[in-house]
Amino acid sequence: MSLNAQWMQRDLAVLWHPCTQMKDHERLPLIPIKRGDGVWLEDFDGKRYLDAVSSWWVNVFGHRNPRINQRIRDQLDNLEHVMLAGFTHEPVVELSERLVKITPAGLDKVFYADNGSSGIEVALKMSHHYWLNCDQPGKKRFITLTNSYHGETVAAMSVGDVALFTDTYKALLLDTIKVPSPDCYLRPEGMGWEEHSRNMFAAMEQTLAEHAHEVAAVIVEPLIQGAGGMRMYHPVYLTLLREACDRYGVHLIHDEIAVGFGRTGSMFACEQAGITPDFLVLSKALTGGYLPMAAVLTTNQVYGAFYDDYATLRAFLHSHTYTGNPLACAAALATLDIFEQDNVIEANKALSARMASATAHLVDHPHVAEVRQTGMALAIEMVQDKASKTAYPWQQRRGLQVYQHALERGALLRPLGSVVYFLPPYVITPEQIDFLAEVASEGIDIATRESVSVAVASDLYPNHRDPG
Ligand SMILES: *Cc1c(COP(=O)(O)O)cnc(C)c1O
Repeated sequence: MSLNAQWMQRDLAVLWHPCTQMKDHERLPLIPIKRGDGVWLEDFDGKRYLDAVSSWWVNVFGHRNPRINQRIRDQLDNLEHVMLAGFTHEPVVELSERLVKITPAGLDKVFYADNGSSGIEVALKMSHHYWLNCDQPGKKRFITLTNSYHGETVAAMSVGDVALFTDTYKALLLDTIKVPSPDCYLRPEGMGWEEHSRNMFAAMEQTLAEHAHEVAAVIVEPLIQGAGGMRMYHPVYLTLLREACDRYGVHLIHDEIAVGFGRTGSMFACEQAGITPDFLVLSKALTGGYLPMAAVLTTNQVYGAFYDDYATLRAFLHSHTYTGNPLACAAALATLDIFEQDNVIEANKALSARMASATAHLVDHPHVAEVRQTGMALAIEMVQDKASKTAYPWQQRRGLQVYQHALERGALLRPLGSVVYFLPPYVITPEQIDFLAEVASEGIDIATRESVSVAVASDLYPNHRDPG
């Protein structure tokens, strides 16, 4: 038995994997990874895979990055962890100072959680609690966009809207208000992104007018709805939303867990709209993809509403055990150093342009409805019928065929349903981008051939992160 097969066997005897119908592994091999090296992942049989999705969007400077490794090692020699209530430490102070400095003006306080979903919970609770502290207990609902994704915990799911996934848990969810997304894939033929996003704002304006009295916050994924299929929209929507939230007395929460740290072409997506949200939630690339951590930045105004004598019971008593973990902070500090020292945002412009040119020919593919891009994220939407943008039935799992083909060719491309996308580490080379485009083209050709075995569909369920 190959080493890969041995590890797979031991794994399946004891593990339950995330976002997976485990029965899939009766026919789909698990891939045990032995080591990482830059953009590459290597399995136990020596095969290498180019990590085109940055290991679920976290890895920005490659696997086993020497600078991040060194910083974590140095931190390890001083302090691995200490609780953050009543105590503090050098890396968490330094990281907080730097996050305040590099984010838009007005975000002056940082609260930590230990994963993205928990960071969303922090922002939602803090927003409602702020209004409670301001004697407005009625402000307890949240407005969210259709096709949103904000994580897996119950409140985070409540503000999400990837239907086939959240529907299962509907009985558990908070009652949120959903407004149609400005998603530009759905724009009328011939209309530009800006005009469409601007038009879509009318529904948000109307909802705010109607519900502002009972709403604590609007939460959005700025510019890219990631798990919803890398759907994209114009920054004008965020500018309009900021202005309206101010006018109606409602908080604005930016979930930049996926898009923060350069993914959209600017360090943070909110910069492109020229705005400061009331809450900015960061995670994923925050630690360069090394360790789980989330940061929730907010304003001195929000902070001030909690600041009082203990007996008033206004404090935010939320806590996660690993809050502000020093090793995670060290990884984040090394990541920020690389952004600065290597002038990454500027350097990425050439890589974004290469992603566009390498995939330009796919626009003409008979089963590609759109090739869209925002900065370092590029998505290719496969459809059954190009003219009407009719989607493939999810049961056919066309994306899974792209996934399998890419693995054979040595690339990790994990489509979201029928959306093939590149979200590569920023240390990818132009030649490696060309390779990915080639593999994706081949995979799309294979996956969109007429005959598809539907036999696999019966025992599988759709999921937002599942390659089918
Ligand atoms: C990944 C993601 C989350 C959830 O983060 P986890 O660390 O997986 O809990 C929330 N929002 C967005 C936009 C994400 O992409």
